[in-house]
Amino acid sequence: MKRPYIIAGPCSAETREQVLSTARGVKLAGADMFRAGLWKPRTRPGSFQGVGEQGMEWLCEVRDSLGIRVCTEVACAAHVKACLDAGIDCLWIGARTAANPFQVQEIADSLKDREVRVLIKNPVNPDIELWAGDVERFAEAGIKDIFLVHRGFSPSSPLKYRNDPQWGIAVRMRSRFPQLQMLCDPSHISGSREYVPEIAQRALDLGMDGLMTEVHCSPESALSDSSQQLCVEEFALLVKGLEFRTAESTDKALRDTLETMRSRIDILDEQIVSLLSERMKLSREIGRTKKANNISIVQTARWEEVLSNVRECAIKNSLDPGFVENIFNCIHGASINEQ
Ligand code: PEP
Ligand code: MN
Repeated sequence: MKRPYIIAGPCSAETREQVLSTARGVKLAGADMFRAGLWKPRTRPGSFQGVGEQGMEWLCEVRDSLGIRVCTEVACAAHVKACLDAGIDCLWIGARTAANPFQVQEIADSLKDREVRVLIKNPVNPDIELWAGDVERFAEAGIKDIFLVHRGFSPSSPLKYRNDPQWGIAVRMRSRFPQLQMLCDPSHISGSREYVPEIAQRALDLGMDGLMTEVHCSPESALSDSSQQLCVEEFALLVKGLEFRTAESTDKALRDTLETMRSRIDILDEQIVSLLSERMKLSREIGRTKKANNISIVQTARWEEVLSNVRECAIKNSLDPGFVENIFNCIHGASINEQ
């Protein structure tokens, strides 16, 4: 069974002591790579912006004295140059940078044909094409060692977590780039340390290859992302408690049972698509009738009635009404486009 690949370390490098102490702790707990941000992309000005190049020698000290690979975030060609000069062998592209093709191209150009590992976080907005474009830019620049990092998306409405996992996007990205490793960053999804274990386990259950987790030797006093960082002991417990699964079982009977259930799912999916097609035909007909009689396409009250019916129906069928409502809003959008 493949063990998950684990990157761990503080959100930001703050002092030499904090960097070294955290690195010792995560290495002992089983981390494969140490992370620490030197340049921090903060949402608001005035907050801690990172120690910058001053922290580079602390990362090098971790690498040389503890024998663990290190990585940090880069957001422009100057950051890349500082990292390459120091011999840092893994760089990550943050979620805000990943949403900006100009910046990603600048970074890719400055890394042309270098032997470095690049971790590409998903962009803050749930746009799979933008994320895929980032991968293509690095691949075209000759970067061979690319990892994807799923860190959730800015939520459109308040949520239990800081960022919306939208697992479906991560799974689709995975099948689009099956040759790339995909890690999950449960810290930036959770926003709160209590949720980190459940997100981490969910990611592994969905077949992700590992985790990138924020760990701080003293999270309460962290200068950034204090509430989501684990202390070293919590991280050690997390790693111990993780259950990893294989993609396929070697048990023939179990494989057959799964195969049968998958065939039933395939049939249901076909039925769903055919029902959608029937619904769409009817809605086009309604559209034509409305036009012929000079009636506007959208009647808000009618749509509210549809939503209330399907919500009620969802509850009766033990489905999450919010989930069903989302599907119907999508269907409604498509019907309006067609009418
Ligand atoms: C980080 O890893 O500290 C970070 C800033 O992440 P993201 O770009 O995912 O917000
Ligand atoms: Mn952070």
